[in-house]
Amino acid sequence: MNTSRGPMAKVWSILTTVERRELVLLSPAVIAMALLETAGVASIVPFLGLLSDPAIIDNQPLLLSVYNGLGFASRQSFFFAVGSAMLALVTVSNVVSALTTWSLLRFSWMKNHTLATRLLGAYLLQPYAFFLDKNSADLGKNILSEVQAVVSGVIVQGVSLLARFAVIVFVLAALVVLDPLMALGVVVVFGGVYGGLFISIRRRVAAAGKQRLALNQARFKVAQEALSGVKELKLYGLEKVALDQFAVSSRGFAEKQAANAVVSAIPRYGLETIAFGGVLLIVLYLLRRGERLESVLPVLGLYAFAAYRLLPALQTVFAGMTSLRFNLSSLDVLYRDLSGYEASSQHLGASSEIAFARGVHLDNVGFQYGASDKPTLANIDLRIAAGEWVAFVGPTGAGKSTLVDILIGLLAPSSGRVNVDDVDVSEPLLRAGWQRHVAYVPQSIFLLDDTIAKNIAFGIPDEAVDMQRVREAAAIAQIDAFIAAELPQAYETRIGERGVRLSGGQRQRIGIARALYRGPALLVLDEATSALDNATEAAFFTALHASHDQCAVVSIAHRLSTTRDFDRIVVLNAGRIVDAGTFVELSARSPHFRTTRDVA
Ligand code: ADP
Repeated sequence: MNTSRGPMAKVWSILTTVERRELVLLSPAVIAMALLETAGVASIVPFLGLLSDPAIIDNQPLLLSVYNGLGFASRQSFFFAVGSAMLALVTVSNVVSALTTWSLLRFSWMKNHTLATRLLGAYLLQPYAFFLDKNSADLGKNILSEVQAVVSGVIVQGVSLLARFAVIVFVLAALVVLDPLMALGVVVVFGGVYGGLFISIRRRVAAAGKQRLALNQARFKVAQEALSGVKELKLYGLEKVALDQFAVSSRGFAEKQAANAVVSAIPRYGLETIAFGGVLLIVLYLLRRGERLESVLPVLGLYAFAAYRLLPALQTVFAGMTSLRFNLSSLDVLYRDLSGYEASSQHLGASSEIAFARGVHLDNVGFQYGASDKPTLANIDLRIAAGEWVAFVGPTGAGKSTLVDILIGLLAPSSGRVNVDDVDVSEPLLRAGWQRHVAYVPQSIFLLDDTIAKNIAFGIPDEAVDMQRVREAAAIAQIDAFIAAELPQAYETRIGERGVRLSGGQRQRIGIARALYRGPALLVLDEATSALDNATEAAFFTALHASHDQCAVVSIAHRLSTTRDFDRIVVLNAGRIVDAGTFVELSARSPHFRTTRDVA
C-alpha cells in the first residue's frame, strides 16, 4: 500500500473513471463561481470611488466614453445604471454559486452511496477464507461509518477547500492590482496566522484521527458482541460490564470528534477580531493624517471587500485541511480495501457450465488455516460418485467441516486438487459452476426476516418463487405438517428476527427444505439433523431416499445410527482418513469407529 500519497491523490485514486470525469467537468463551474464572487464584491470599490468623487467621470477617458456613448442625461442616472449593473452581477454570481454548490454537494454526498456499495461489493466478492480472520463488526463499520467519515471529512471538505482556494487566489489577484501593499499585509497577517496554526497542530490532528479510528472500531465491536450475545449477557448479569466497555470507547470517540471540530472552527473568531481591529486602525491612521472621509472610503471599501470574501474562504480552507488530516486514517482504510480487494475480487454471479455425471474426487488434498501452525487435513484421497451417500464421522476437531468446505469449494485446498468429473475446479468460474450443483445445510440456520416461503426459496425474487416446489421441499424436510397446521398464515407467515420464533429442530428443517428447493446433485448436511428427534430424522432420510435417489449426499453425522443407510462411512481422525466402509463392515473392525460411537 502506498501511504505516502496525499489525501487528495488517494481520493482521486478511489474514484471511478466516470466520477473523475464528473469532478473535472465541475472545475470550470468552480472557477466561474470564484471569479464572479470576486468581481461582484470587488466592484463595490470603484463604485464607492465614483460616489465619493464624481469628477472621476471627466478625468477617466474610459468612463467618459461610456458616459457619453450611452447618452446619460445626468450623473444621477449614470450612478443608478452603474448600481443596477452591479446588482445584476451580484445576482448572476449568486445564482452560479448556488448551482455550483448544489452540484458539488450532490457529487460529494452521492459518494456516500457509491463508495459504501463498492466496499460491500469488494468484501462480498472475496473468497470465504477472507472472512475467517476478519471481524464482521469491523467490516460493517468500514462500510457504514468510515465511508461517511471520508465523505463528510475528506470529499465534501476537500471539494469546498478547492473551491474556496480559487476564491482566495482571485481576491488576492484583485488586491494586488488595486493595492499591492494591502495585499502583502493581508497575506502576511492572515496567511501567517492560519499557516502557522496549521503547521503547529497537523501532527496532533493526524494522531487524534488515528485514535478516533481505533475507538470507532472498539465501539462497533462491543455493540455487536453485546447485542448478539444477549442471552449469556443477561444470565450472567454482564449488562453493566458491556455498557461500561462501550462507554469508554464511545466517550473517547466523541471527544476526538469534538476536539477536531473545535480546532477547525475556533481560529475564525481570533481572525475576525484581528480583521475588525485592522479596519479601526486604518480609519484612525488615515483620519489622523488629515485625510478626508471621502478619500478614506474607497480604501475602507477595499479592505471590507477583502475581509468579507477572504476570511470565510481562508477559514474554510483551514478547516478543510484540518479535517483532511483528521480523517486520513479512515481514508487509508478505504484506500487499502478498495484498491486492494476490488482488484482481487471474483466475478459477481458468473460461472462456467460443468458436468457432475460421474463424481467428485478429492485428489491428495491437504489444508492448513492461515491462522494455524499445523495442517488441519493431510493426504485426503476420496472419491464420491454421483448419487452416492457418504457419511463423515470422527471426533470433534478431526477436520470434517473443513473437508466439507473444501469439497463444496468454499475453501481452496492448500495442496492437491478437487476434480469434478475429472475437471479441476480451482479456477473461480469452474468452482462457481460446481457450486451450482451443490446445496448445503449448515449447523446453524440463518433465517431471513421474511415469510416461510421466502426462507425456503432463498434469494429467489418474489415473482419467481415456485410454490409447488416449496411445498415438496418442505414435505421431504418433514416441516410441511407443522407449517400447515400451526402457523397462522401457513407459508406466508413471517419468521426470523421480527416474526414467529422457531425451535432449533424447526429451523433445521427450514434449512433442509431450502437446500432441497435448489434441486441439488450433491446435498451436504453438516450435523443438519442434530436437533430432530429420532423418528423425524428417520422419516426425513426415508423421504430423501425415495425422492432424491439421483442426488449424492454427504453428511457429517452426529449420531451413528443415522449412517446405517449410507453407502459408505468415512472415518476421520486428526485430519486423516483412517478408515472407510459400510456400517456393518466398520462396526466389525474399526477401533476408531467404535471410539466415535462411544463418543456419540
Ligand atoms: P470437525 O468438523 O471435525 O469438528 P473442523 O474441521 O471444524 O473439525 O476443525 C478441524 C481443526 O481445524 C480444528 O483443530 C480446529 O481448531 C481447526 N480450525 C477450524 N476452523 C479454523 C479457523 N477458521 N482457523 C484456524 N483453525 C481452524
